[in-house]
Amino acid sequence: MIGKKVKNMSDNAIKNRCRGIRRVRLLVHGRVQGVGFRPEMYRRLTGLGCTGHIRNTPEGVRLEIEGREETVRHLIENFSDIIPPRARVDELCISELTPAGGTGFFIEASSPAGESLLPIPPDLATCNECERELSDPGDRRRGYAFNTCTCCGPRFTIATGIPFDRRTSAMESFPLCRECRSEFAAVADRRFHAQTMSCRACGPRLSFFYTGGGKNEPSTAPLAAEEAVDAAARLLEEGGTVAVKGAGGFHLACDASSDRAVGRIRTLKGRPHKPLGVMVEDAETAGCICRLGPGAGKVLGSERAPIVLLGKKDSGLLSGAIAPGLGRIGVMLPYTPLHRVLFDHPRTPPVLVMTSCNRSEEPIAIDSRAVAGRLADMVDGVLDHDRKIENRCDDSVVGMADGAPVVFRRSRGYVPEPVMLAHEAPPILAAGAMWKNTLTLTRGRRAYQSQHIGDVADADNAAFFEETFKRFSALLRIDPEAVACDMHPDYPTTAFAVRLAKERGLPLLRVQHHHAHILSALAEHSRPGPVIGVSMDGTGYGEDGNVWGGEFLVADLKGYRRRFHLKYVPMPGGERAVSEPYRMALSYLADAFGPLEGLKVMEAVAGELPLGRVCALIGRENLSPLSSSCGRLFDAVASLLGIRHRCTYEGQAACELEALAAGDVEGGYPYGLEGGEIAFSETIAGICDDISAGVTPPVISARFHNTVARVVIESCVRLRDEDGLETVALSGGVMQNKYLLERCLEGLHERGFSVLRPAQAPPNDGGISLGQAAHANAKLSVRDGGVPVARDLE
Ligand code: ZN
Ligand code: ZN
Ligand code: FE
Repeated sequence: MIGKKVKNMSDNAIKNRCRGIRRVRLLVHGRVQGVGFRPEMYRRLTGLGCTGHIRNTPEGVRLEIEGREETVRHLIENFSDIIPPRARVDELCISELTPAGGTGFFIEASSPAGESLLPIPPDLATCNECERELSDPGDRRRGYAFNTCTCCGPRFTIATGIPFDRRTSAMESFPLCRECRSEFAAVADRRFHAQTMSCRACGPRLSFFYTGGGKNEPSTAPLAAEEAVDAAARLLEEGGTVAVKGAGGFHLACDASSDRAVGRIRTLKGRPHKPLGVMVEDAETAGCICRLGPGAGKVLGSERAPIVLLGKKDSGLLSGAIAPGLGRIGVMLPYTPLHRVLFDHPRTPPVLVMTSCNRSEEPIAIDSRAVAGRLADMVDGVLDHDRKIENRCDDSVVGMADGAPVVFRRSRGYVPEPVMLAHEAPPILAAGAMWKNTLTLTRGRRAYQSQHIGDVADADNAAFFEETFKRFSALLRIDPEAVACDMHPDYPTTAFAVRLAKERGLPLLRVQHHHAHILSALAEHSRPGPVIGVSMDGTGYGEDGNVWGGEFLVADLKGYRRRFHLKYVPMPGGERAVSEPYRMALSYLADAFGPLEGLKVMEAVAGELPLGRVCALIGRENLSPLSSSCGRLFDAVASLLGIRHRCTYEGQAACELEALAAGDVEGGYPYGLEGGEIAFSETIAGICDDISAGVTPPVISARFHNTVARVVIESCVRLRDEDGLETVALSGGVMQNKYLLERCLEGLHERGFSVLRPAQAPPNDGGISLGQAAHANAKLSVRDGGVPVARDLE
């Protein structure tokens, strides 16, 4: 559906309309740049005998079209039918002009001045036509690793300025050769005005070198073109590791079926268990290693080409070390021509590990010097090229729930597409939180969420956060006039926001973490609230200084009331309880049975752990902060079942507990909901009874999941009765749990709720900055051209 705005006509325009000639100016907002929009329009409009011109401007594409009255009317009415396949029109502004005559239709040079709205498209996976050329023996771009056209190829990752053009991208250093130039200029060519196009004669060049790791001596001179691909494929076949320069950074690749190669990557990356993403040759191979399920094939093969989390199958193509203890693996298809060329080589294994080339939790490497230097011990060879990565960007990660995608990590292929906020407001920087962080910049109603930055607890990521702010604001030309951040006083992002606000004299808004989670859902669904906000989460700073994370809020864009929450239990030893779930098991057992009895139960599960010492911490308030976190409850149950007592990555215990859950179990455990507090002592007691009775962990896990889903559903029903709200927004990191999310969706729909489910805004902390931005946008809204309203700011 395209929103259309029509301005009033001048008298002169009316007069000319009577003569059957009409001239209009169209301003087109949406994904209209870098997708072949202007050439397609040029072809259409010259074909219809119209005159006028088209140009990219920072506000969008601007067209002036003159032609016969019916032609112009028909064109406007059916505008969405004539745009190229990968374009998307959000808004079409139409104004009537006086016909000016003219002799033809022209594509004019881009104008850099003015306000920028959607200046840069996200990266687009190789299109079918370009893929076909890669394997066409008669095509001059056969096997060319940088083949792109008007509707595919790198965009955001190579952008240096706006509007997106060859001049404002890393392609600037590759002037078109004569042949490419004539394609670029030929109206009928599918590369007419393709900004990123190139060929072997003019374009970027592949190279390969050995680092000296493995059995090969370091290269004295790099190999080029076909030889480079051949060397990389051989190395992969032999079980070596190759750093492959992708769109937004280097991947570390190896044969996914080789236990030895995968084990080596894990050791050297310092990542013992966290699942590794894989890239498969084609969709058919994807179907061999995982269950595609409804809707998954479409997401996998989309132009965004994310990593999709799918149920693992036994295939012999995957080492058991890819995703130990988990039921799902992250799969993606080749999305650049370089990937395609690599897989087309007969020696390349059909499934490759393609994990970011970095040490655990560091930003992804974008520079071959870093790869060959600091990371050389994990890389045997480097498949490199000379097109610069301007904007570091990880692969996006998408889970599936109920046949629809839920974005877990919103990065390549999505960024920098904006979300429309509710109000016109001054530009805002929202700094996000701590884990899986992103930042958001707004201009007017548009919120641009940055690429995935990562855990800013890591010093390199904290630096990357500041760099992203600088680059992203320069690229989008947004100079924030207000700053939003989390309430947590110790987050580096909060410190940055405070400093920036102080330096520039800007208002600062501190947004409660779980309010921001709910607002990310409101923002992506363009809803103002109020809604029943369900935030089942790991860690978030509460207004009472406790650690919140199992919250039922009544929330709108401007504020919230905390209605229900999980009963507080101590986190013995504070933060350490996050990575050591047995501490939470002890705490929940102490809550259910008292400390002594709880200790006894836990000793039967894992007597080798320092349980007595940890148990002694429980009563000590200063060492054991109170928490209502749902994530910690999952941790406690995972440990109680003996699944995991210590984690090596965030959420590991909960993920393994989910992976174990049997699919066909209906029952649950009792729980308490009184005075706004939800208590799980009876749940814990029920689980202990089941364990004693010999009920298997898969059944107990399913019953526990069902219990949490019932808590969500019953709480929503109560809040509907008490507050009269029919809409529920689901968010928080625990909502990445497919089993839980699907049960909640089913139960809420059955009871007649309208549900705002997480889709493009991550339910984890990757969505926090968007929620913060939505709050600040509402607080600072400019009404009817008035001044910013910011009375209740600090
Ligand atoms: Zn293409
Ligand atoms: Zn060329
Ligand atoms: Fe959170």
